[in-house]
Amino acid sequence: MLAKKGGTPVRTKPWVPTFISSEEFNEVEQEKVLNVLKKKRVFRFYDEGLQESEAAKLEQLYRSRTNTDYALAVNAGTSAIVSALVGAGVGPGDEVIVPAYTYIATAAAVLIARAVPVIVDIDDTLTMEPSAFEAAITPHTRAVIPVHMKGTPCQMNDILSIARKHDLIVIEDVAQANGGSYKGHPLGSLGDAGCFSFQQYKVVTSGEGGMVVTSKPELHARASVYHDCAMTFWGVEQSTPVESFAGENYRMSEIQAALGLAQSSKIDSVVGRLRKVKKAISDGLQSVEGIELQRIPDPEGDVSYSLVFYLPDEGRAAEFSECLAAEGIPNGTIHNNGFADRHIYVNWDYVMEKRGANPNDTPWNCASYKGNVQYSKDMCAQSLNLLGRAISISLHQSMTDEDCQDAVDAIKKVSQHMASKVG
Ligand SMILES: *Cc1c(COP(=O)(O)O)cnc(C)c1O
Repeated sequence: MLAKKGGTPVRTKPWVPTFISSEEFNEVEQEKVLNVLKKKRVFRFYDEGLQESEAAKLEQLYRSRTNTDYALAVNAGTSAIVSALVGAGVGPGDEVIVPAYTYIATAAAVLIARAVPVIVDIDDTLTMEPSAFEAAITPHTRAVIPVHMKGTPCQMNDILSIARKHDLIVIEDVAQANGGSYKGHPLGSLGDAGCFSFQQYKVVTSGEGGMVVTSKPELHARASVYHDCAMTFWGVEQSTPVESFAGENYRMSEIQAALGLAQSSKIDSVVGRLRKVKKAISDGLQSVEGIELQRIPDPEGDVSYSLVFYLPDEGRAAEFSECLAAEGIPNGTIHNNGFADRHIYVNWDYVMEKRGANPNDTPWNCASYKGNVQYSKDMCAQSLNLLGRAISISLHQSMTDEDCQDAVDAIKKVSQHMASKVG
């Protein structure tokens, strides 16, 4: 009998830890961070040994991990996207295409760069649908931001060929997919730039932090100028000479960089463990009727911390989710989160209402913008339909064979019950 109806739950032990990143903290992180304190150097652009700073080492690590020529450490993933956009020359008058399902920061970054976000549908991969991207291109489109959501690599072949055809800049949002790849290429290395986040919810954390990787010298140089309003005064050699202009302060501290270095040395190990966990569960679910696993464009490159499957309709998804939770497997749908999910465009209030910090000057009403983008809650019906039917379960690198089996058994139990009820 289903636990929801008073039966014995499949699982009574607690489910997985909330965080992937910080669960890995050990003496490696402690040593790295303490060492910064011992050196008494917490600021990266101190005039001696610019290349010996922890931030410079973190940049070097991401250059080599992504086979790119340049990397810029910043204080957040959002800052990374803003810096990459400004670095690429995107700004007032430009439209930037973003998916309907991503953390609100992707759209916010476009607005902070003074450009206009254009929202397009996702498909059953939960990432940007290439045909929806192409259909949204206007004469004002300048860039696209494919987002590798929940560790799932986007359909980069299609996205890159459409972008090339229309001469668009591609900025990959890798905030949720550090360590992933697409057809053998590290995520972040496929577009003109890749943007990482090291916030605690991500695969790797530095407390707060981010990184821009690129092989375009001018994009890197302009992003560097933007990330620090005094950049040209620090004596750091530019990747290519560019004129200075006023930027922000998006610098990364040495403590963050040291933590990021310790954490990033563990990515491949963490992702390797996650992939084993996800494979064990997916294999166990192959013949389960009534559910359809999320399509993954390149399963080998999937970061694999999230298991998503679809039910035929919203009603059954809501019921399935409740039954599964009662069996001891916490899971998420857009219905049961209990709060307005900031990853779904309908809840991006300031975008939907075209609101800026100052009503007299927003990216939508500035004189350079000649387009006329419109937003409405039903504009991406396909995305809402898919998200409404999707159930997601968080996986963790610490999961044992027994944990994986519990997930499989619980999903099977609920789906059998639901199938018999319908039939
Ligand atoms: C977390 C996240 C960001 C922003 O990163 P912060 O470090 O929180 O600024 C951007 N895009 C996506 C998809 C994210 O998940």
